[in-house]
Amino acid sequence: MENFKIEVDGDGIALVTFDVPGRSMNTLTASVIKEIGEVVETIKSDAAIKGAVITSGKTTGFCAGADLGELGGSGGLGGGKPGEEGLKAAFEAGFALNKAFRALETCGKPVAAAVNGLAMGGGLEITLACHYRVVADNPKIQLALPEAKVGLLPGAGGTQRLPRLMGVMAAAPYLLEGKSMKPAEALALKVVHEVVPAGQEVEAAKTWIKTKGDPVAPWDKKDFKIPGGGPYSAGGSQVFVMGNAMLRKTTYGNYPAQLNIMKAVYEGLQVPFDAALRIETRYFLKTMMSAQAKGMIRTLFLSLQELGKGSGRPAGVPHYDVKKVAVLGAGMMGAGIAYVQAMAGIETVLIDQTQEAADKGKGYAEGLVKKAVSRGKMTPEKGEAILALIHPTADYADVKGSDLVVEAVFENREVKASVTKLAEAQLADTAIFGSNTSTLPITGLAKASVRPASFIGIHFFSPVDKMGLVELIMGDETSQEALAKSIDYVLKIKKTPIVVNDSRGFYTSRCFGTFVQEGMELLADGYAPAIIDNVGRATGMPRGPLEMHDDVALDLSYKIAQQTKKDLGDKYEERPFTTIIEKMVEGEGRYGRKNGKGFYDYPENGPKTLWPGLAKLAPVKIAEVDKAGIEEIRTRLLYRQAVEAARCFEEGVITDPREADVGAILGWGFAPWTGGPVSLIDGVGVAKFVEACDALAQKYGARFAPPQLLRDMAAKGETFYSRFGVKEKAAA
Ligand code: NAD
Repeated sequence: MENFKIEVDGDGIALVTFDVPGRSMNTLTASVIKEIGEVVETIKSDAAIKGAVITSGKTTGFCAGADLGELGGSGGLGGGKPGEEGLKAAFEAGFALNKAFRALETCGKPVAAAVNGLAMGGGLEITLACHYRVVADNPKIQLALPEAKVGLLPGAGGTQRLPRLMGVMAAAPYLLEGKSMKPAEALALKVVHEVVPAGQEVEAAKTWIKTKGDPVAPWDKKDFKIPGGGPYSAGGSQVFVMGNAMLRKTTYGNYPAQLNIMKAVYEGLQVPFDAALRIETRYFLKTMMSAQAKGMIRTLFLSLQELGKGSGRPAGVPHYDVKKVAVLGAGMMGAGIAYVQAMAGIETVLIDQTQEAADKGKGYAEGLVKKAVSRGKMTPEKGEAILALIHPTADYADVKGSDLVVEAVFENREVKASVTKLAEAQLADTAIFGSNTSTLPITGLAKASVRPASFIGIHFFSPVDKMGLVELIMGDETSQEALAKSIDYVLKIKKTPIVVNDSRGFYTSRCFGTFVQEGMELLADGYAPAIIDNVGRATGMPRGPLEMHDDVALDLSYKIAQQTKKDLGDKYEERPFTTIIEKMVEGEGRYGRKNGKGFYDYPENGPKTLWPGLAKLAPVKIAEVDKAGIEEIRTRLLYRQAVEAARCFEEGVITDPREADVGAILGWGFAPWTGGPVSLIDGVGVAKFVEACDALAQKYGARFAPPQLLRDMAAKGETFYSRFGVKEKAAA
């Protein structure tokens, strides 16, 4: 065997060490699954073996679970054969782990898991199939079944063993939300039997085998009862009734994984264990084959991982280690950027117009560090070292020696031009200048630069310390070298970069804007605001379009509209909703959440309520909608964003489907269940999507008209991922 080593000691206890060669972490690859069968066979048939302890040979952890790369890979389970035969092959492949783990559980000899590090997904499930679990006492160890987070169902016994160990109610958050537990918590919840000082797991496991070693799982014993009762007990049935309602409330039926997990638990708990495992595999496959799971695995796992390794980085440029960065403007964005840089060990010069303003910007990092220290998440020494990296100043001479500049002053061309000149005067030729503008085209801003090849857009999202995405914007003259260096910077501050070309609103703000605008269109059409936001949330977006508009600020959106009107001239299309916004901002001083007055009122204590005055500006004509009406609103809100993403491809604003999907979910919270707007179109089918958009365009106007690119793709039967595939980066 290449993945397992078996050593039998003088007491006849086999120590099975799990250690996948050539990898830093154990995962359940096809070869591992095959060898687990051999391990079980050895334990079972070798008369010299009295019991076994399974541990990991990795210092990084016990096992990270299934290899999602293999699972999400082409063909799918069982090789993706069609028809009855394909289904059978898929079932056999999907059942393989359950079969192997069940064989381990029923091998007739006691088996203990000695967990010396993180155990996730199938990695935790193999331990649940052991008769005894010992975990090292290290609060950093996570034990979890995180499948639901990427749209999957724990398919190696997790949905059956966990509720039988801890009860349905207690198991729910671990199964449905992928919540993780630390060793002490797992002990309290009776998921593990012993927590021992690190390094003593194997010894403790062996002691159990020698002294108590029981080779029968609790659910294989005659008197077994599910803690808290099964689905038909008084307590159990309540859990499922409530659980269903909660599930509806939190997922709006968008996520098949959660629903299928509930079904697998509900049905599985009513039958003998072997049948339960087969039920689990059926739901596992059903979930796996859903468009949602495919999209989510690809975007939220595979693509995110690839972009996080800099897959969009032009080859041939040596790694650029950014050690010192000047941040211009210590406002909300600049202060956040300074903090994440310091956290990554980057010396940061934080500049504002006055020393006082710069100090105030550093105050933001001071606040966050203080909080972390008080919560015991950071030592005071570490906190001080981080803060010492931020030098607040009003003197541009301090920019000298910076490898990169991030400009985050007011959103004003003249102010930006003036600070660009001041900073560039101090910069070495090799340094990069990045602007954090949210709306101004980069090529235009680069006109103030004497070195436009090194000028790039570095667009952060607010709040900077929480948002994982950075959108890099190429101006007409931005060089591949500047891009490569900027990607190195983004990776160093532990964010995910996407690369886009210059356009009004770039990629993220442009597409997000259409969601907010479609909310306004619905309002102007006469839909009751509560319907708009409720259905908006039910699409899987984090909030409804009116709520989000309030968050962004109505005056900002008004200002952007005025500027766009000025820039586009005759091409600007006036919409009925623009007068609503104009009256709200100009007439009523309603700027959104920031002044407590937007579509909603924001009382100091208590939840927000709809502003009663809105009814006068936008009279309600449609106060009730049926199922078809809801579907229509839902489609308008989602397809409007997706068709804009498709236009971005046609115009070359974005070129890589992975970046489009990851950028949408991380950047503006596009409904994660879809896998992103591009996966949404691919999942629906391009031809069907075009047809639906044509119908919407007929009814509501050109904003839904599908671009020629989509018609071409439909004619050729292409998908975004097949047509654009992985971007070939030109060597610099
Ligand atoms: P802000 O008003 O909070 O901060 C701007 C800061 O720049 C102020 O502290 C101001 O004193 C300073 N400043 C102005 N002129 C200066 C000069 N000549 N030299 C030095 N400092 C100067 O604004 P913000 O929200 O932090 O936005 C900054 C930039 O980031 C804008 O371009 C904005 O469009 C962009 N942006 C904002 C967001 C957001 O959500 N707020 C998101 C992405 C990008």
